[in-house]
Amino acid sequence: MTDHDRSNADLFDRACRVIPGGVNSPVRAFGAVGGTPYFVERGEGAHVWDVEGTRYIDMVQSYGAVILGHGHPVVVDAVSTAAADGTSFGAPTEREVLLAEAVCARVPSVEKLRMVSSGTEATMSAMRVARGFTGRRKVVKFAGNYHGHSDALLVQGGTAMASLGIPGSAGVTEHAVADTVVAPYNVVPELDEDVACVMVEPVAANMGLVAPIPGFLEGLRAECDRVGALLVFDEVISGFRVGWAGAEGLLGVTPDLTCFGKVIGGGLPVGAYGGRADVMDVVAPVGPVYQAGTLSGNPLATAAGLATLDMLTPTFYEQLSGRVACFAAGLTSAFSDAGLGWQVPVVGTLSGIFTGTEAPTDYAGATACDEQGYASFFHAMLRRGVALAPGAYEVMFCGLAHTDAVLDRVIETAALAAAEVAA
Ligand SMILES: *Cc1c(COP(=O)(O)O)cnc(C)c1O
Repeated sequence: MTDHDRSNADLFDRACRVIPGGVNSPVRAFGAVGGTPYFVERGEGAHVWDVEGTRYIDMVQSYGAVILGHGHPVVVDAVSTAAADGTSFGAPTEREVLLAEAVCARVPSVEKLRMVSSGTEATMSAMRVARGFTGRRKVVKFAGNYHGHSDALLVQGGTAMASLGIPGSAGVTEHAVADTVVAPYNVVPELDEDVACVMVEPVAANMGLVAPIPGFLEGLRAECDRVGALLVFDEVISGFRVGWAGAEGLLGVTPDLTCFGKVIGGGLPVGAYGGRADVMDVVAPVGPVYQAGTLSGNPLATAAGLATLDMLTPTFYEQLSGRVACFAAGLTSAFSDAGLGWQVPVVGTLSGIFTGTEAPTDYAGATACDEQGYASFFHAMLRRGVALAPGAYEVMFCGLAHTDAVLDRVIETAALAAAEVAA
């Protein structure tokens, strides 16, 4: 390969010719921040190197999928060992049992678990199960919560669109979202007896980081109970991320069903959904709700997930939460020293950058951020060797490899970048 072939710009050119937008997931194309994406050659711990040899501190970490950092030897070993024994069988394997047992042991509400291959599949399947179990049609979701890209859940809709079921994407028919109701986050909606389930990110991490206000999740629980609807937590990001037993453990509200992804795959393609045994027993082959997958419970993915969960002790979360709290305080100071009133929300080990002065509690507040300011800050950081997510509505994923030294470096860099943005 010549140097030319190895440049980010050249690869992106070639990518754009054969892949829509040059990427396999839209945010990666840098559309929100402008410029050309860096193509990663490899990662180690908290760092990634692009194909031009530039090293970045990586705050993206596969959007939270690799909490132990890139290429953690324990995960690499587990995956290599599993691969040597065969990559997929179409018959049950022991690791599927071990992983389900590990999740059930940690998350009190999960009595039974089904593995799938993405978070999207997990939420789509949980919704089908909720409808199958209750015999009802409506699904309530919240504006600014992301539940993957299945038709019925891909409804954006600000508060004004609530209950209209406006499709959030071309190619989604009105019909597909006719039974989807969108409500504002952090407000308990009044439900009726057509509602099969309320799906919620218990800690919202796809509109920046927005914590549930006290009483919101408790109120959802009570309202679901009042009308006999199921409460579904989408913990694809928050699961095994904000704490040892996810948001459920951290916040003490018990859902009927929970969706997982990201962390439990240790960086491999994974999703899972689980919950009450009586509800999960509507899933085939026990019950009438069909859901299947050629690669579900895949040997490599379950090996990576098991190796990852094994490392994630309560002490790990305590220590990392402490580091992240200090990091957020440092970042907040850097912003205020530069004369920017930007906020740094924190929940457990998750943190975010809100480029506004009034920390939001819902989607309307979240979208009142300064997107142009974020884009400028993003590039000022990237030029100095820190890779944030290329969009104002993503969060920061600190993990095992983000030591105090690494995070101090991010704060120092942020001070310079913030000063540049403010100037
Ligand atoms: C990432 C995410 C999903 C979708 O998971 P994929 O594996 O990308 O399909 C669903 N819900 C939440 C909360 C997520 O953050």
